[in-house]
Amino acid sequence: MDANAVNRLDAHQTNAFRRALLDWYGENRRDLPWRRARDPYAVWISEIMLQQTRVDQVRPYYDRFMVRFPTAEHLGKAPLEDVLKAWEGMGYYARARNLHRAAQRVVGEHGGQIPDDAARISDLPGIGPYTAAAILSIAFGRDCPVVDGNVVRVLSRLFHLTDNPASSAARKRIDGLAGRLLARGRAGDFNQAMMELGATVCTPRQPRCGDCPVSPYCEARKMLPDPSVLPRKRPRKQRPHHHVAAGIIRRKEEVLIVRRPTDGLLGGLWEFPGGVVSKGVEEETFLAEEMKNSLGIDVRVDHAVATLRHAFTHFEMTLQGYSCSYLEGVALHRDGNECRWVRFEDLGRFAFPRAYQRLIEAAAERNEGPRPAGFA
Ligand code: SF4
Repeated sequence: MDANAVNRLDAHQTNAFRRALLDWYGENRRDLPWRRARDPYAVWISEIMLQQTRVDQVRPYYDRFMVRFPTAEHLGKAPLEDVLKAWEGMGYYARARNLHRAAQRVVGEHGGQIPDDAARISDLPGIGPYTAAAILSIAFGRDCPVVDGNVVRVLSRLFHLTDNPASSAARKRIDGLAGRLLARGRAGDFNQAMMELGATVCTPRQPRCGDCPVSPYCEARKMLPDPSVLPRKRPRKQRPHHHVAAGIIRRKEEVLIVRRPTDGLLGGLWEFPGGVVSKGVEEETFLAEEMKNSLGIDVRVDHAVATLRHAFTHFEMTLQGYSCSYLEGVALHRDGNECRWVRFEDLGRFAFPRAYQRLIEAAAERNEGPRPAGFA
């Protein structure tokens, strides 16, 4: 990386860059529901949803969420179960749990108003430097630069930054550039314009340099046949793969579901009981023993329902679902996790991870039970 990157644009060029970007944004910005008002609560919800989730996937969730929880007070006073249900299918459920905890604190400590300074807003669960800067600049007009993945990409290309942006030195330089370029007094628009440019023009694989409003200032365009080689990517680590077996245990019209502990992966969501199967162990044998050991019930494993693959951030999973018959015993989880017998058609009232939703859908298709209503 060129250490002088920050100084490469003089004041005149920097102003021209800002003007070009802001003019382009004024004409080309997408009409997104959270952009229609500068309501701090709406900005906060949208920014949390947009972490790790694409705009087109977020839109319907955002619309439903804002109807269901229109203010921090509605959100903070709702049961966590309702918030998880509204989030169901979007993944990364820690975001929903943190939102809920933060909303409770906004109500309890800030009179229902989102704080408008960095120290107090950053103290809320789930609000890191990026989200704090986004809310402060977009909703409150504060001169805070926002650096998300889109902005990292745009800046890496604009200034031909060749170091891996995940390194702390490279990241510091990128943050410095973002601060230097920021259009003070119009920080909200400028930040959104940078992110919009990265999302719609300076895209990861095929940047549309011919349509780019800031191409005259772009070093990568001048120096590289293909600017998409920047930013340098980290070599992907191979993710571990787990085989999970889960039992849809029937007792007359009902099936057994177990709630995951509130903290940790998929915390607070419901699933069918089961677990990770060790290599070489037969899944049916594992399931029958697991139900006995973890729940204290005897079951008969009847037949396989579906095999589903699912990718998480740090591992991949093959989920093998089995239809099982309850024989005897009282279902009490050894770790105290909540257990419930519910009618198959009522499963839609509970929040399940996406892989288990797919298992329920596969089971319904196999006529294991009527298709439950209420999945996202
Ligand atoms: S000219 Fe191309 S590489 Fe440079 S910022 Fe614009 S879209 Fe990205």
